[in-house]
Amino acid sequence: MAGTTTTAVGAHMSRIRFDGAAAWAALTPAQQAEIGAIALELIVNQHGEDAYSIGFEPTAEKRPFQAANPLLNDMLMSAISDALAEAVPALIDDTLPIPVPSLLGPVCRACGCSEQDACDVGCGWAEPELCTACKGT
Ligand SMILES: [Zn+2]
Ligand SMILES: [Zn+2]
Repeated sequence: MAGTTTTAVGAHMSRIRFDGAAAWAALTPAQQAEIGAIALELIVNQHGEDAYSIGFEPTAEKRPFQAANPLLNDMLMSAISDALAEAVPALIDDTLPIPVPSLLGPVCRACGCSEQDACDVGCGWAEPELCTACKGT
């Protein structure tokens, strides 16, 4: 029966959450400037890549955007990781539990489903951190 396997563990597992806004506020202005600049370049680059994506032929127009995409992604991840390592090292070390992004919204304390990843049987919120699929079992 669908849903019966979700109740076995962690019926009251509470998850700590990662507050990105608070972490951002803990970064230095220089760190924020570096991350922000890379992020803006990445988004504009994505726009360029999308705009020149008509047809499958690699074109001279599209080529630099394609080349920049992995570079900018790597730069962004690196800049953010370095900044977090300095500002809030506890957030990216290997200490468990690792905080779940707050922007994900509610997470079921029993099965871990969320608005982005509903249970196969379909579910809603029975309580703030308990989905209807788990509540019913
Ligand atoms: Zn659930
Ligand atoms: Zn669910």
